[in-house]
Amino acid sequence: MRHIAIVGSGPAGYYTAEAAVKKWGDEARIDVFDMLPVPFGLIRTGVAPDHQSIKGVSRRYEKTAIGDTVRFVGNIAIGRDVSIEELQSLYDAVILATGAPKDRLLRIDGSDAENVIGSAAFVGWYNGHPEFANLNPDLSGRHAVVVGMGNVALDVARILSKTEDEFAGSDIVTHALDALRNSSLESVTILGRRGPHQIMMTPKELGELMQLERASPQVESADLPPLDDDAVLEPGMRKSVTLLREFAAIPPNIHGEKPIAIEFDFFASPKAIDVTDCRATAVVVERTVVEAGRAIGTGETYRIPADIVITCIGYETSPIEGVPFDERAGRFANDQGRILPGLYCVGWAKRGPSGTIGTNRPDGYSVIDIVDEDIGSGHRRRGREGFDDLAAERRLDIVTFRDWQKIEEAEIAAARDGSPREKFVDIESMIAARGL
Ligand code: NAP
Repeated sequence: MRHIAIVGSGPAGYYTAEAAVKKWGDEARIDVFDMLPVPFGLIRTGVAPDHQSIKGVSRRYEKTAIGDTVRFVGNIAIGRDVSIEELQSLYDAVILATGAPKDRLLRIDGSDAENVIGSAAFVGWYNGHPEFANLNPDLSGRHAVVVGMGNVALDVARILSKTEDEFAGSDIVTHALDALRNSSLESVTILGRRGPHQIMMTPKELGELMQLERASPQVESADLPPLDDDAVLEPGMRKSVTLLREFAAIPPNIHGEKPIAIEFDFFASPKAIDVTDCRATAVVVERTVVEAGRAIGTGETYRIPADIVITCIGYETSPIEGVPFDERAGRFANDQGRILPGLYCVGWAKRGPSGTIGTNRPDGYSVIDIVDEDIGSGHRRRGREGFDDLAAERRLDIVTFRDWQKIEEAEIAAARDGSPREKFVDIESMIAARGL
């Protein structure tokens, strides 16, 4: 028998659990830990609430979660309730699937102003993550600046721009819907320090900006490279750039019909943030030129008014005491998933915050191949039995998958009309709901 602990119940965690079941069948017991009482990590609190088809992948994880082989151990924080060393002494392999939940920081003057918010916090707020549910961002101003040109920047710009009706069918939490309903935004500027050929946005997500009821995307034709230059791009990227060209061709009268402008500002590197009374009022950017793919400052600067700034410039893994960490890369130090004997990582905790949800599937399967090589048929550890003894001794309150199903039933019962669920946004309410 092999005893496996997976820390984190997001996509990387559950694809790894699925791979373990495929590899070992009944010859393994897999415990999937999460610090929250609810599973699915990024699917629940990262994927945009209006992208329900992507969130549907949790049904697949549910199939893995139900049964005796894989067990969900919610409401247990590794490092707080139980140490990594303790887990390692109980399980043949401990696999960290903890993602990259911390914002990479924009380290410029003024970036600590109270209305400069990282995407982990902002996305966590509209998705009801307990850590960020009380963020209460001030959306009463007219101008938002979104830093970064990846898919998270697109999510944020789109969520800021949608009407209440456009959230029908989504599971955006009510506190966010209320705040967005009362917002007075007129512009959302998306800042890229490089050019149209260097965006990290994918076509489907970019195309959604064309469908918005009250916002229209704007690109300056002068920022676009000559059309022939697109020939060198790989097909997905070429589609994205073609969409930018379509945005540039939208006639001015269409922009006039829509109250919110989503402006793409290319070749604009944030240099400082003007702050008055602890609040950002403008972002100072430096014009760049792109040489050999790198943004080079020209010395020319200008200001973009900002009543709120949301940085969408990537994420980092949270370090865990005793686990080697690669500070520069912002993830665990590892060699193809191996950190130390018996300790592994997978997903964003292994390779950094890139790729789609599906990218974690091969990652999960490959880490299980490696674990299989390393542990053979197991080392007669005590596994979940030993963990349960420890949990009882410490009076830890484990939330099981069956408990989660009750929490989910309560969330579904509380849903607004047309919405799949109304999430509990604090840990106490989640835990209380299992007894309803
Ligand atoms: P990302 O794709 O890596 O984009 C980060 C952006 O931030 C880049 O445009 C980058 O510009 C910019 N940036 C970084 N540091 C900066 C700085 N100091 N100043 C200005 N700009 C800076 O990251 P992401 O948007 O957080 O997305 C993470 C992953 O999740 C991606 O793989 C993404 O595709 C995925 N995701 C997918 C979906 C979806 O499929 N619907 C939705 C959300 C996220 P440079 O390129 O110049 O460094």
